[in-house]
Amino acid sequence: MAFRFRLASGLGLPAAALIFAAVGVGVLLGAHRFIDASNAVSHSGEVLASAGAVEARLRDAEAAHRGYLLGDAVEYLAQYQSSREQLGPLLANLAHLVEDNPGQAERAREIETLARRRLEQMDRVQADYAAGGIAAVKDHHDPANRRTSSAVGEQVRLLVEEERRLLEQRGLASRASADMLRALAVLGIPLGIAVVAWVYWLLLREIRRRGDAERIGTEANARLRDSVARLERHSADLSELNRFGGLLQNCMRPEEAVALTSQLLSRLLPGTGGTLYRVNPAQGYAEEVTHWGEHTAASVAILPPENCWALRRGQVHVLRSHGETLRCSHVQPPAIDAEYNSACIPLLAQGAQQGFIYLSAPTPDFLSEMELVQAAAEQLSMALHNLSLQERLRLQSIRDPLTGLFNRRYLEESLARELARSERRGLPLSLMMLDLDHFKLFNDLHGHPGGDALLAALGPLLRQRTRGEDIACRYGGEEFTLILPEANLEQATRRAGELAEAVRALRVEYLGTLLPAVTCSIGVATYHHGEDTAETLLQRADKALYRAKRGGRDRIETEATAAIRAA
Ligand code: GH3
Ligand code: MG
Ligand code: MG
Repeated sequence: MAFRFRLASGLGLPAAALIFAAVGVGVLLGAHRFIDASNAVSHSGEVLASAGAVEARLRDAEAAHRGYLLGDAVEYLAQYQSSREQLGPLLANLAHLVEDNPGQAERAREIETLARRRLEQMDRVQADYAAGGIAAVKDHHDPANRRTSSAVGEQVRLLVEEERRLLEQRGLASRASADMLRALAVLGIPLGIAVVAWVYWLLLREIRRRGDAERIGTEANARLRDSVARLERHSADLSELNRFGGLLQNCMRPEEAVALTSQLLSRLLPGTGGTLYRVNPAQGYAEEVTHWGEHTAASVAILPPENCWALRRGQVHVLRSHGETLRCSHVQPPAIDAEYNSACIPLLAQGAQQGFIYLSAPTPDFLSEMELVQAAAEQLSMALHNLSLQERLRLQSIRDPLTGLFNRRYLEESLARELARSERRGLPLSLMMLDLDHFKLFNDLHGHPGGDALLAALGPLLRQRTRGEDIACRYGGEEFTLILPEANLEQATRRAGELAEAVRALRVEYLGTLLPAVTCSIGVATYHHGEDTAETLLQRADKALYRAKRGGRDRIETEATAAIRAA
């Protein structure tokens, strides 16, 4: 296209200029030829007139000559002389007029020669007549004189004929010029105009094409800018998601992961309300754990998991204002006719329901970020799953499976920590060691599983009888240890008495029969600030227990009673 335009403007315009120049030159030449032809016509007219005048004057002179000879009238002689005088300039004029045409010039010279010869003949006759009268001129009527006269006429006729022929020829040339001029005008001008129109049309098309190209370019540019901005936004979102993933991996507790997610989504989805629900598997319901922004359509705080389509189907469930999707029953639509769009995103990991994220907004804009939200939801699900797994493993590693109490490893870890804390705060701390009396015998009588049933019942009993900050552990076999932070020896001894009482009152049913009551012995020791280690404290409690056993069992011994006894 552009090539055609360049070709047209490169060739078409010069061609049009050439055509107009040719028309102009043609018109100029034609006009010149026309003027030349006109001049030639008037020139021929002059030649004809001049030849006629020469012949007329000669005939006048002959007539006056004859008149003179016949009537001897002097006025004829005067007429003859006048004509004779006029003939000279007329002949010179004729010779001058035809000097550019050699043929005619030759004829003019012949006419002049013959005319002068004729005048001389007449002069001679007149001289003879003047000398000898009419008789003297009789001889002069010879045929030679008449031949000269007719020869002049003949030459004039030839000259006139030739001039007429030339005139006709020039007329033809003049018509040819006029025809050429007409042809130039008829063909050249429309052709030139057509070429200019063609170039003008191509030019308009080119301008339009360039305009279109410019518009397309501008639009493409705008689209490119848009997609670059989108990409930049997307890349920023991805890096935020990446950062979110990194932070999630470092979360120690589910609450931290939930708070991080809420921060991320409130940043990613401005103008959108959100609620995060967690499924409590033990209780079988989903419960709101956090929310952000403002909901367009509220949602209930607690719901059975089956009330959410996303949880039921394990897929994102979107509800648009004018859509026909089913609404989850936990969603509470706003007032009639108010526009709202909502989405439920399930939190699933390894097929286990962790909960879901509920989003709502007046416009569906946030739905374009759904991929990102889903990616965040997947990361959160995995993080929650891992955290609960970790928690389970941790509990498994520190709990005794039979009694549900902490194990000996945990006791050693936490005793060192509690001692340090007690030391730091200057608060008391006491330790109890509890051992069932004659448990070997109990096993013998009721079987090992019977003994297990009793031990299993002892776990909850110890947990119920201790405060939140106390740590109850199964030290090994049928021996238990309790750490009592902030309890002095007296308080610890009193609580040991209560515990012993509770153990005595414990009734356990096994295989349909009630197992007999058991008793226990307890040794109590308290932390000596600045002196004790976990080991020495445990040793002193163990010694007290040993004394209780030796003292007859079903009793409580403390380091104080030992000291009293020693004293
Ligand atoms: P004492 O009054 O001196 O403590 O007498 P005892 O029979 O309880 O003696 P000891 O504490 O030395 O014996 C512990 C017994 O507890 C030995 C073992 O049969 C029993 N035992 C230890 N662990 C378990 C357990 O997990 N299940 C059951 N059923 N019995 C256990
Ligand atoms: Mg025992
Ligand atoms: Mg024992």
